[in-house]
Formats: sequence, C-alpha cells, structure tokens
Amino acid sequence: MSTRLDPAPRLPFPYRPEAEVVATTLQQLQGRLDWPAVVAQARPWVQAVREQPAPFWALESLLREYPISSSEGLALMRLAEALLRVPDAETAIALTADQLGRAEFDGEGGPAEGPHKMLAQISASAIALSKRFLPESDNPPGLLQRLGSRTVVAATVRAIQLLGRQFVLGRSIGEAMDEAAAQRKAEARLTFSYDMLGEGARTERDAERYLASYRHALRAIAGGRMASSPMAADGISIKLSALFTRYEDAQRERVAAVLLPRVRQLVDEAAAANLNLTIDAEESDRLELSLALFEALAAHIAATHPAWQGFGLAVQAYQTRALAVVDEVARIAREAPCEGGLRFMVRLVKGAYWDGEVKRAQEAGLPGYPVFTHKHHTDASYLACAARLIEHHAVIYPQFATHNAGTIAAIVQMAQRQGAAFEMQRLHGMGEGVYREVLAATPVACRVYAPVGEHRDLLAYLVRRLLENGANSSFVHQLADAAVAPEELLASPLGAATRTQAAPALPLPVALYGAGRANSTGADLACVAQRAPLETAVAMTHVAPPPMDTPADVDAAMQRLHRGFEAWHQRPLAERAAILRAAGDALDARLPEFCGLLVKEAHKTLGDCVAEVREAVDFCRYYADQAEQRLAEQELPGPTGERNTLRLKGRGVFVCISPWNFPLAIFAGQVVAALVAGNTVAAKPAEQTPVVAARFVELLHRAGVPADALALLHGLGETVGAALVAHPHTAGVCFTGSTQVARLINRTLAAKDGSIVPLIAETGGLNAMLVDSTALPEQVVDAVVQSAFRSAGQRCSALRLLVLHEATADGVIEMLQGAMAELVVGDPAQLATDVGPLIDDEAFAALSAAVQRLEREARLLGRTPVDTAAFPRLLAPVAFEIGRIAELKAELFGPVLHVVRWGPGQAAKTVDEVVAQVNALGYGLTLGVQTRIDTRAERIAAAARVGNVYVNRNMIGAVVGVQPFGGEGLSGTGPKAGGPHYLYRFCAEQTVTINTAAAGGNAELLAGLA
Ligand SMILES: Cc1cc2nc3c(=O)[nH]c(=O)nc-3n(C[C@H](O)[C@H](O)[C@H](O)COP(=O)(O)OP(=O)(O)OC[C@H]3O[C@@H](n4cnc5c(N)ncnc54)[C@H](O)[C@@H]3O)c2cc1C
Repeated sequence: MSTRLDPAPRLPFPYRPEAEVVATTLQQLQGRLDWPAVVAQARPWVQAVREQPAPFWALESLLREYPISSSEGLALMRLAEALLRVPDAETAIALTADQLGRAEFDGEGGPAEGPHKMLAQISASAIALSKRFLPESDNPPGLLQRLGSRTVVAATVRAIQLLGRQFVLGRSIGEAMDEAAAQRKAEARLTFSYDMLGEGARTERDAERYLASYRHALRAIAGGRMASSPMAADGISIKLSALFTRYEDAQRERVAAVLLPRVRQLVDEAAAANLNLTIDAEESDRLELSLALFEALAAHIAATHPAWQGFGLAVQAYQTRALAVVDEVARIAREAPCEGGLRFMVRLVKGAYWDGEVKRAQEAGLPGYPVFTHKHHTDASYLACAARLIEHHAVIYPQFATHNAGTIAAIVQMAQRQGAAFEMQRLHGMGEGVYREVLAATPVACRVYAPVGEHRDLLAYLVRRLLENGANSSFVHQLADAAVAPEELLASPLGAATRTQAAPALPLPVALYGAGRANSTGADLACVAQRAPLETAVAMTHVAPPPMDTPADVDAAMQRLHRGFEAWHQRPLAERAAILRAAGDALDARLPEFCGLLVKEAHKTLGDCVAEVREAVDFCRYYADQAEQRLAEQELPGPTGERNTLRLKGRGVFVCISPWNFPLAIFAGQVVAALVAGNTVAAKPAEQTPVVAARFVELLHRAGVPADALALLHGLGETVGAALVAHPHTAGVCFTGSTQVARLINRTLAAKDGSIVPLIAETGGLNAMLVDSTALPEQVVDAVVQSAFRSAGQRCSALRLLVLHEATADGVIEMLQGAMAELVVGDPAQLATDVGPLIDDEAFAALSAAVQRLEREARLLGRTPVDTAAFPRLLAPVAFEIGRIAELKAELFGPVLHVVRWGPGQAAKTVDEVVAQVNALGYGLTLGVQTRIDTRAERIAAAARVGNVYVNRNMIGAVVGVQPFGGEGLSGTGPKAGGPHYLYRFCAEQTVTINTAAAGGNAELLAGLA
C-alpha cells in the first residue's frame, strides 16, 4: 500500500507572537486551577523528598555541587559525552587530562549529609583522583606517568559509567525487563515504556538495526501473550529519526515510501500484542510531518486493528503549537475511518530540545521561536494541554510525563475533577523521590520511560539528562537545592505568565545583533507558509542572459565612473550608509524573487539560495554600520597649537570581479563595500550569472546609488575583465575566484604604468577537516556531508580533505558511505534535492576527468547513486582514500572528497604533523576540527595557517560580522569579507594637520591657562 503524506499544514503558523499564544493558553486554563490547593498537595511531597532522598540521588547532588554552568559541571558533561567512546588509550588520557585540567573537583563532592551520598562521593572522588595523576596537557606523557594515567582514566571511565547506569534500565531488553519486574514487586502500579537507545540513523544499515531492535523488544514484551489492555501493559517508545535516515519534511515522498511501512510493521506487531507504542516527539521542524505520518498510520489501524487503543504520540508543551497538536490528534481519532473512530494514547511532555530550537531559529533568521521562551510559559502551556487532553478523554488516554511536583499535583486535581482515566510518567533515574510520594498519596498509575542499551549508545541521552538535571530552571535541579524555598519551587506558572506574556525572554532572531543592524530574514523550508512564496517565485522565474559588453563599453563606463567619483565620494558618509541600508532592506523584502533567480541562473538548491540572499542583505547592513563606525573622521592627539585629523576616503574607480558560485552574496559584498567607502564601482559578475547581478545593481540604483557611481559590465574574464583591470582609471581591484586568475590580475596591475593599484583577492583552498578519536562519528559525518557536498562542493570553503584518526577511521568511513548513499542529487528546483548540478559543461568535463584519474590512483570509498537523466551536469558526490596529505595537489571545485588517515601507524603521526602537512599545501582558507579535547582544538587553531577554523561543526556558511571570511597564502590577500577590517582596504587615507597657532599665537592654550 503506498500512501502520500499530505503536505497541507494542519497546525497554525509556528512563529506567532508569544504573547498571542500565551493569551490563548491562559484562556484555556481559566477557572480550572486552584493553585493554593495544588501547593497544599505538592508541598509535603517536596519536603519528604528533601528529607528522604531517593536512592539515585547521586547525579542531582553531584550537579548541585558542580552545576552545569561551572567548569566542573561542564567537564563532567564533556567527559560523560565522549570518554566512553574513545578507543585508544593515548587519546583517552589526553581527553581526561584536558577536561579535568580546567576543573576544581575536591574529592569531597556530593551531598554533605544524608544516607545516599556514597555514589556521588565515589564519582567526585574518582574524578578528583584522576585529576591529580594526569599529565598537565595534551602532550604525550612519559612512561611512568602513562601507567599512572591509564589507571586514572579507568577510574574516571568507571565514574562516568556509574552516572550513566542511573539512567539505563538494562543493557538488553531482557535485562531491562528483569529489572522492571523487580521494581514492580515493590510498586505494583508501575508500568514501563522501553526505549532502545541510540543516535538518529545516518545509514540505512543503522535504520534497519533499530527496526530489528524495536521488533525484538516488542516480541520480548509481548512474550507470546496478548495483553489485557495497553494501559496495563508495558510498551515501547520509538524515535522516527532512528528508523529512517531522512526523516525530514523535504523528503516527504521517501518518508512515505520507506519510513511509513517500517512504522506500520511495528504498529501491526504492537497492535497484535495489544501493547502501547508511542512515537517520541523530536524537533519542531518535523512536527507537521509527524502528524501526517500519524494520520496515515491511524488510517491503517482503522482498517486493520480498530479496537486497539495502544497507539500513541508524544506532544511537546513547549511548542507554541502544542494546543493545536492536541486538538489535531483528537480530530484524527474521531475522524478515523472506522466505526466509532479510534482511541489513542498521548504522552504530554514539556520538551527536551529547547536550547537546540532556540539556536536553530536564530541561525536561520526565522520570524520567531517555535517554542516558548519563558519556562513558566511552557509550564502554563503544559497545564493547558493537559486540560484539553482531559476534555478529549473519550478519544485520548492522557499520559502526563513530568517530574515537577507542582505540575503533577495540578494534573491530578484537574483529572480527578473530570473523572478522566490517565497515567503519570517519569524517566528512569529521575523523579523517583517525587513519584514515591505521589504514589503513596494518590491512586494514580505511573509508567517509567526506560532506556535500554549499551554505554556507547547512552551518551547522547546521558548528556540530555545531565543538562536537564543541571539547568538552573529545571524542577529537579531546584528540588535538590535546599536553598530554594518550597513556595518558590511551587510558584504558580499562571501568575508569572500573566505578568510576562507580552515580553519574550529572548530577543527575536531578527534582533540577534542587538541595537545595531537587524539580522537578515530567513525562511523555514519545513513550513509551508514560509516555503510557498519561494516555490512560486522559482516556478515563475525565467532567466535570459543579456548581451555581453564590449571593450568600448568598458572604456565608456570607466570614463563615466571616473567622472562620477568626485560627487559620490563627497556625499556624507551617513548618506552613503543610508543608501546601503535601504538596499539591504529592499533585498530582504525580495527574498523569494532573488531565490528564484539563483535557482534558475546558478542552479542552487532552495536552502542555499535563502542563505545566499541573507548573506547579501547582511553585507549591506554590516558595511553600512562599519563605515559609520570606522571611516568617520578622527581627531588625533598631538602637541598644542595644532589640529590633526585622519580621514578615510574612496580611492577612485574600484573594479569588482566576482564568481558564479555566490553570484549574489560575493557580488554584493564587494560592490557595497567599495561603494560605502566612497569609490565608484565597475562590477563584473561571472559570465555564467549576469542576471542576478543585474537585478541587484538595479536594486542599488533604485535605493539611491547614482548611475555614474555604479556600472555593471557583463562579459568574459579574458575580454571585459582584462580590459577593466588594465584600464588607466582603475584605482583598485577586488577579485574573488581562482588563484590562477588572481595571479594574472596581480601581474597585469604590476605591469601597468601610473599609480600602484591595490588588489584584494579571495581565492580557493585545499580545506581539511582533522578528526580525532574523541569526535562523535554522527556529528563528523553530518559536518562532512554538508561541507564537502552541499552546493555540489562549489564553495571555496568546501571540505576537500578529511583527515581521520586511524582508531576510528573505519567506522566513520562506513557511516560516511551510508550517508552519501542517502543524498538526493538532482534538479535544484526540487525541495528534496540536496546536491544540484555543476555550473557548466566545462566544469563538468574537468571534474569528470579528475574523478576518472582518482579512480585509477586512489581507493574509491563511496559514491552517491545518481540518475544523470534527471538534470544536466549532475556529478555524483564521491570520496576517495589517498595515502598522504601531500598527494593533494589542486583544488577540485566539485563534490569530490579525499580521505586520509593519521595516527601512530600513518604518514602523519600526530596532530602537529597533520597541521604541518596541511600548512605545507600552501593554501590557507578553512579548517575543520572535530575533537572534544579543548586544548587540542586551541593548539591546532594556533598552528594552522588558515583564515577560518571551525571546531565541531561544518566548515561552510560563514556569517557576515560573525565569522569574517577569507584566507592567506594561496587562498588570498585578506582582509576578511564581512569583518571589521575589510573597508579600510578600499580607502585612501589622508591626514590633515593645521597649525592653529599660525595666526600670531596659541590663543586656545593661553585662554585655558588663564
Ligand atoms: C516519560 C517521558 C517521556 C519523554 N519523552 C520525550 C519526547 O518524546 N520528546 C521530548 O522532547 N522530550 C521527552 N521527554 C523529556 C521531557 O521533555 C523533559 O523531561 C521534561 O521537559 C522535563 O519537564 P519537567 O516537568 O519534569 O521539569 P521542569 O523542570 O518543570 O521543566 C523543564 C522543561 O521546561 C522547558 N523549559 C526550560 N527552560 C525554558 C524556557 N526558558 N522557556 C521555555 N521552556 C523552557 C523545557 O522543556 C524543559 O525540559 C520525556 C520525559 C518523560 C518523563
């Protein structure tokens, strides 16, 4: 059965003003809560837990002693996240030394008193001990020290394992079920929802493995019997991102074709055994997609198991759309195509990815946040959703997952008033004390979310829990802190929400840069309302290249610009800056139109287009601000009787020559920098992409740049470009492109008579990413795929050389092969496309030949399958292994990745050798570093002769004013584009010294002394 997942949105716009959403939330709660009664019920629970902590109090106590915001807490988190996966002793020692080196564990950590301090003390003592014996730095220690270090690292590993064990019910489902049975003996009202731990799948093999482990768990739980009801039986929780590598809105068709049948299989097995199967909630950009899947599955259940009531979904209350999600699930239940509809389970959570959601919205320049920004707004939303779930109890069995005593008491009271059946839920290893009291005081049932897995799979989950336990705002953290009074701990979120509803706690993404310039507007491509205008613009755009200019046109333009210079550079700086800002605002408002042009002319994917338009907008606003700050006249100190003034002014006609790979952003960056500094500009776009450049020039003219201050000259580099560079009126050249052409321009300028003309050149790179064995393979592979293959590798910052530590190389390569196999190469106008075509036939022929050479000379590691008929000039992303760094000779400007190993058995044995060999390639643009050893990252950055170093992330997409971009050596002359020193290079400087005492004497001095 094939199903289409309807893309029509079911939910309101995710970025509505927070105030508006909070108002609806509070309305929902009106008259439903008696908060003093809530406090009266919850206060004894809080007191009892504080007086008699639960056995697993270790982590709470440890994090109270060493909060996540302290260097010790951070060290703990870093070690917990990375240490257990490091296979080689040398690196494990370096990591432990590095992290403990910055912390002050005293060995006496943990609670000062109470019967449950032992575990906390063991952990803290082990860590303190480790610290004492470890080498000071990342340098390889001596033999004796090393023996000591190994023991100490083993102790630290043990401590981390102890912490981790708190959160895992068992290493296998069998072990977990045994443990569950033991716990149920002590408390019969406990049920369990097992969660098979792991990262999201990056390869098809991972996804199949997860599917098998979910199926195995379901069979084990069912044990061949049919449960009496899903409410009474144990069940499982599944993560859709584990079952399919591309669980993304942009991949709806594949989600329907691949993921849906997998989940259907699990649903069938859970239904047959009458168990509960709940789909975990993940990131907000998957919310609509998850509901579409949920409805498709509901239709299947209606057709096959209409009596089953165990199908469930987790709903995150921190999302501004939470109430609508609850209603939508109820609607799907009621309208399910079977007699009487269906009944679902809904697990209400607050949400585990708050920090990530905030970061994504800021980075992407979204119109708002998809989540609340005040903790008490989330708390209020949770209660409003709870009230609504209880209203829908005929079609929904509500499951309330929270460790917050106030929230629990409020829910118990609301549900009891309505006589609704429900259950509470907690995470294994958390909230045990509170639930001990709740179960003793009320008849409610409680389900435990029970992670199952080996230590290796636990790490990401453990870090989430550490963050949750360690965050100041979190209930469990405050509960462990006796200094927080019960009144404060149980304060009503409604009162607080009423007070703050108008003001978000964080500046909106547009206000990211504070009082200065506005952040450029992005678009959430997973949101139909945001995506539709872009898709319409793409469909409506057709580009027709204009005729090329001739050398005579060049001369005429240069004469005109030369004449226009005086008037333009005399314009007050504030006027020039205002024109740029107006241009930036106009471009910001025309995002769809420019995306359409970029897709059609430069064959860029929609995501790349949005990023590019934003970069151009940022350039306009940033350089306007920079000009006013840095190019203003300055009075210089000097002797009395004299005034010294430094002025920066335009040089004359600046020639700006830009490439096709960023036909808007680089073009705009060069042109507006030159203009705002007071130059007139002859702008030559790449011959492949004149239309988008022309449209931007038109926009600049409309914003107020005079016709004789800016001219566009379209043509070949050899003719129009050469004529511009050689022209006698050329006062400066700004060039981005190949090192070869930059050299040619440099020579032409040097050979010219007349004034000496400065050149700003930004050229290519042989960019490497250095990965050590502390790095998380999933993060590495994500960063590699984005850096090497996004934009079909046609970025000067793109990754060309991946340098993997030998201890983890095989695993990373295998994951990379799997991830490459999942990429979609095709028509860039299609939302699903990850990698578009090469720019032209010439590039395609050259790259194809280079790949053929590599096929002969290197070891092919992986290649993305491509339907070459889908679009012209599609080159499959490909990776080759080479023996030595030095084998890399020339930049291949396409989706071709080289991989090399480093480590004791390789040509480059140490980090220092890798960096030296990468430096020796002569380029110096970008470098990626993937390590959890902070001192190592710092050392690499210091030794690397590159312009941009990116640690533990991808290495593309530099943001204006945030990551000023540009390199050294063969990669360019500097200064960095989008940085504070860029504009100076476009200026001539003048010092004016006036002898103010010339007319007879120093009147000022004498007057002052009188
Ligand atoms: C059984 C169970 C299953 C779970 N399944 C999922 C799941 O599928 N998906 C998922 O995302 N999470 C899931 N979680 C994790 C859950 O989101 C957290 O445990 C929960 O948010 C903690 O809430 P609390 O009421 O216990 O604690 P509280 O301390 O009262 O609340 C903490 C929560 O408040 C929110 N918050 C914190 N600061 C702010 C702020 N400034 N502005 C707005 N909100 C803020 C965050 O959501 C944070 O997690 C699950 C939890 C349980 C118990």
